[in-house]
Amino acid sequence: MKMLIEGQLTESQSADVIRVSNPATGELVDTVPKGGREDVKRAVDAASEAFKVWSERPAIERSRVLLKIAEVVRADVADLARSLTLEQGKPLGESSSEINSFANSCEYYAGLIGRQRGAHTPFSTGEGFFIVTKRPLGVVGAILPWNFPVSLMGWKVAPGLAAGNTFVVKPASTTPITDIKVAALLAKTGLPAGAVNVVTGPGSVVGEEIIENPKVAKIAFTGETATGKRIMEGAAKSIKRLTLELGGSDPMIVCDDADLELAVEAAAWGRFRNCGQSCTSVKRLFLFDSVADEFVRSFVEKVKTIRVGNGLEKTTHMGPVHTQEQREKVESMVEDAKSRGAKVIVKGGRPMNKGLERGNFLVPTVLGDVDYDAKISREECFGPALPIFVVKDVEEAIQRANDTPFGLGSSVWTKDVEKAYHVAERIEAGTTWVNSPPIARAEVPFGGFKQSGFGRELGIEGLDYYYETKSIQVLEYGKGKKWAFPIN
Ligand code: NAD
Repeated sequence: MKMLIEGQLTESQSADVIRVSNPATGELVDTVPKGGREDVKRAVDAASEAFKVWSERPAIERSRVLLKIAEVVRADVADLARSLTLEQGKPLGESSSEINSFANSCEYYAGLIGRQRGAHTPFSTGEGFFIVTKRPLGVVGAILPWNFPVSLMGWKVAPGLAAGNTFVVKPASTTPITDIKVAALLAKTGLPAGAVNVVTGPGSVVGEEIIENPKVAKIAFTGETATGKRIMEGAAKSIKRLTLELGGSDPMIVCDDADLELAVEAAAWGRFRNCGQSCTSVKRLFLFDSVADEFVRSFVEKVKTIRVGNGLEKTTHMGPVHTQEQREKVESMVEDAKSRGAKVIVKGGRPMNKGLERGNFLVPTVLGDVDYDAKISREECFGPALPIFVVKDVEEAIQRANDTPFGLGSSVWTKDVEKAYHVAERIEAGTTWVNSPPIARAEVPFGGFKQSGFGRELGIEGLDYYYETKSIQVLEYGKGKKWAFPIN
């Protein structure tokens, strides 16, 4: 697979390549070019040229192109989903919903862009009025992680294109293929060549050049908090606009009046979807004392039904961990918790099944009596292992839930609307789901508190991060005399 610059599939200048392997089998899926700084510069130049054309297109045309993008992507959902499963590992059903989520984002912003309204506002002094206009920023660098390579490209490209910007996308080096395939489809939609370029290569080269390039106006980044800090420093040098969607350690609180059956399903969905590798995975589970035993009994039964396997198999519920390194990290967090006295409720670990030896598989682990200072509660655990904590009431649950540097998602389970609202208002997180597993929706703004980042993607708010706000102030005829100089 080649990368995409100015609508052309192209090699890198160096002709070096990166190997992309299947996390379920270790086999080579394909290679992609190992891009360098010169390749990024070419892509940025192409995006700058495309910006001149695209930003001048009327909103109604941009809206039509976005709808067309959604249509061509949906038409290819089966092929794209297969491609995503091969490089990322997630089951085919999850891959299809990820591809559809890319299309959803395009449709949502296609609908929004033609419907914006502004206001003519008089000055408080009555001498005139002002209007506030929105201008696209220019070239945006979108730097993506490997856990949701396609939907997270949509969260950036859909509002960004809607607002009139153009893009240089840098996918994670382990999941570049489906992003290139999606971007290549855009040629069929009326989008100018060069409006969305994809440059593959290491973060330390391709990513750094995007951050340093003076023609890039904004960085939209999703990834680890540590990388986000480096990007923030780099972007500061030229005051680039920045959206940072970073890590999380989401709490799920199950109160004594919760619907336990649904909460058990949500905990399984929330922790084991995408093999526990979602930014808003349920990463810490807080159970009220009085329901803890009953919840754990049903949860264990549920967890034991999860079939781990190759994402291409119809029978698979949970695919492999994305990389060997990631698997070792999860295993070391489990060992650390055990060494601090955690009780093993479901053992998990590497499966013994024939055919899974070469993949990075892990069976779910569930731990109880976890020391709160264990890494699994203090850091982000990006894999299928869940620590459970027992709490006595809402206040203890809130205090524990907030005892983390992260603040991305959170959820609370209760039938008492007052309690739900109380918790939701006090949890320091960008989103609180009430009686719901963590599901992102195109119309709802998404982002983090604290070290989970800043800025918002999705929703009406998401569009605003792709604009500069400009105020035009007009003094009414005859009112200017008051402003004569000198001032006295
Ligand atoms: P990562 O930070 O390792 O990599 C993300 C991207 O940054 C990759 O494309 C990588 O090549 C690039 N990169 C690395 N170093 C760079 C540098 N110096 N300059 C520029 N770019 C650089 O993250 P990951 O492991 O791919 O993704 C998993 C993380 O993403 C988790 O922490 C997860 O919680 C987070 N995440 C957050 C959200 C959210 O919306 N908040 C969504 C999904 C994932």
